[in-house]
Amino acid sequence: MEQRLCAGLAALGLPTESIPALTAYASLLAEKNKVMNLTAITDPADVASLHFLDSAALLTLADFREKSVVDVGTGAGFPGLPLRILEPSVSLTLLDAQNKRVEFLREVCGALTLTDVACVHARAEEFAKERRESFDFAVSRAVAALPVLAELCLPLVRVGGSFLAMKSVDSGEELNAAGRAVQLLGGRLEKPLDYTIPGTTVRHRLVMIKKISKSPEKFPRMFAKIKKNPL
Ligand code: SAM
Repeated sequence: MEQRLCAGLAALGLPTESIPALTAYASLLAEKNKVMNLTAITDPADVASLHFLDSAALLTLADFREKSVVDVGTGAGFPGLPLRILEPSVSLTLLDAQNKRVEFLREVCGALTLTDVACVHARAEEFAKERRESFDFAVSRAVAALPVLAELCLPLVRVGGSFLAMKSVDSGEELNAAGRAVQLLGGRLEKPLDYTIPGTTVRHRLVMIKKISKSPEKFPRMFAKIKKNPL
């Protein structure tokens, strides 16, 4: 598996210095996935493209050097952990509501000696109470529809920073529906960027929301309210 993955990563153009860490991460993911549900993507070539390269797409949208990033609903570490491996100057917080996933991330960070990565077990709406408006970037993939996700993520971003959502290319309706939420939360929706994951025919979309003013203190609300009544 390791050989196939290394070859795949190199062929896909990921920098050679990142390959040992990504390979070790993929091995730990495959091992742990046997005993807990971390990812449905198990073929090494698919892990390389659909997890690692897809996460790397964020680097085409913004300059992450020396920036603080929170990955909301990171699951098994996507997109935050590949981003941190590819851009080591990022100050990363991985946030998830499921403790088992956070424990796995702590194991991975220990094994890869990424000692400065914060792995936090919390719901985003609770975490916002202690780390409001404090990150340069919030990033998130496959967690919730954009009107809900905007309320979970934008309060964490400082004015001048951005929230980057990774979506499918079929997210047009969702984007339209999020307009009001984004405005109420102090954001501005930028033109989305569609891309094809290299080596595949899979097309995804990066949605950038710039934080232009502070989010009102009443947001985020309790999750039951957010879900029942999205902004
Ligand atoms: N982002 C990863 C990816 O793309 O592979 C994981 C996606 S997984 C489908 C969604 C994750 O979001 C789960 O691990 C879940 O625990 C987490 N999650 C859902 N709502 C959350 C919330 N309000 N705060 C923190 N994590 C949340």
